[in-house]
Amino acid sequence: MANDTQLFQAIISHAKEYGFIFPSSEIYDGLQAVYDYGQMGSELKKNIKDHWWKSMTQLRDDVVGIDAAIFMHPTTWKASGHVDNFNDPMIDNRDSNKRYRVDHLVEAHAETLKAAGKEKEAASLVTAMESLLAADDFTGLKKLIEENRINCAVSGTCNWTDIRQFNLMFATEFGATSGEEDNKVYLRPETAQGIFVNFLNVQKTGRMKVPFGIAQVGKAFRNEIVARQFVFRMREFEQMEMQFFVRPGTQQQWYAYWKEQRLQWHLALGLPAEKYRYHDHIKLAHYADAACDIEFDFPIGFKELEGIHSRTDFDLRQHQEYSKKKQQYFDNDVDPATGKPYGNYIPYVVETSIGLDRMFLAVLSHAYQEQDLSTPDKQDSRVVLKFPPKLAPIKMAVLPLNKKDGLPEIALDIINTCKQDFRCFYEEKDSIGKRYRRMDALGTPFCVTVDYQTKEDQTVTIRHRDSMQQERVPIARLRDLVNEAL
Ligand code: ATP
Repeated sequence: MANDTQLFQAIISHAKEYGFIFPSSEIYDGLQAVYDYGQMGSELKKNIKDHWWKSMTQLRDDVVGIDAAIFMHPTTWKASGHVDNFNDPMIDNRDSNKRYRVDHLVEAHAETLKAAGKEKEAASLVTAMESLLAADDFTGLKKLIEENRINCAVSGTCNWTDIRQFNLMFATEFGATSGEEDNKVYLRPETAQGIFVNFLNVQKTGRMKVPFGIAQVGKAFRNEIVARQFVFRMREFEQMEMQFFVRPGTQQQWYAYWKEQRLQWHLALGLPAEKYRYHDHIKLAHYADAACDIEFDFPIGFKELEGIHSRTDFDLRQHQEYSKKKQQYFDNDVDPATGKPYGNYIPYVVETSIGLDRMFLAVLSHAYQEQDLSTPDKQDSRVVLKFPPKLAPIKMAVLPLNKKDGLPEIALDIINTCKQDFRCFYEEKDSIGKRYRRMDALGTPFCVTVDYQTKEDQTVTIRHRDSMQQERVPIARLRDLVNEAL
């Protein structure tokens, strides 16, 4: 594969051709930055979600899950700061009328500098931008763009408007009468607020003791301006978030804990450490006292995959103020400094927030491999998706060598025995070689072939996706063999 752009295009085409991801409402030419997951993609996505859910809730005794509604009382978004602050600085090119997020425009220019070997210039440009963004210095930012002759990709000119803020929330109307401000509701731009407003419900009904966490997986919506990076940046996407409520003063220690814990979760899936790095934030969001991104090396470069944020007591305090309902917790553990219980306080929060679709892209892009299998006598190649077996959409394909002589019946029997445990797939069309290639392209870790010997001795061939090695095993061992790999 010649370069990363071609690799990215190849992955996008593969995702479509094999039923992972389709452009939304494609028969009407699609809807920008909205995608549908197909028969394979929805399985992979669900497996990622289940894996996250299990490790965050079932395997821990201090985190529980909820499923809050997408619509929330509009005051929620006043209190959270999203109505006033959920903005990105944007700039328009006067000649093309194209709008850019300022940070994306500058970062893209830094990438071209890097590609031209000007690493130092690129780094100092990004540093300058970050400090101007941190100071909300829009005049300075515009000057930076002009001085560096950063041009619009469409018009090629440097004829820019002033920088303005643009709110990313989608609004819609509730109920029958339209046009009234009172009816305005938002599609949630993050799942976190559904957790904050339920903090006391969960704490009381679940008899939870601080420190504890609440996890949630669900849709979020953002009117992204630059949305051309496949499922990396969508207008409708899914988040897997967890808010961990802690005693004030302990947030730095929990922040360090979750930063480490979350990276380990990624590595435990078998994704390589060199594809990950931390990016500590200089400009902190209005609610945070520390924040970092876990970045992944996507085919479009190192980009944010997950955010870890120490959000202080900002959200609960704001909800207390706007709702006039106390959001306090009574801690009866004894403070060794005073010899008395810690008493009432609003807990601090450490958040872990990962985009499910970005995780999907990370897993898919890492799994995708084009392999040359040519020998001196024969040209050959394959595309294989080397998914971690537990995430693969199909775990085991069962392939009868022939459509007759009782082989399909044996194959279907094997599927009936195993399908309660994991997802199986039956395929009898085409040669075995072609069927193997198709299963490689779908990322199926095991292919089982039923042949004439099976009728004699109840054994089958099992072929391993990554090594392409085959071995003969008794049918009775199959279920355990696959279960062990999962
Ligand atoms: P970015 O800087 O890339 O816009 P963000 O910092 O705004 O992301 P957060 O608000 O921290 O993102 O959201 C948490 C996670 O949700 C992100 O780490 C990312 O994985 C995911 N996410 C955010 N926006 C999108 C989007 N438009 N499409 C897909 N996933 C997203």
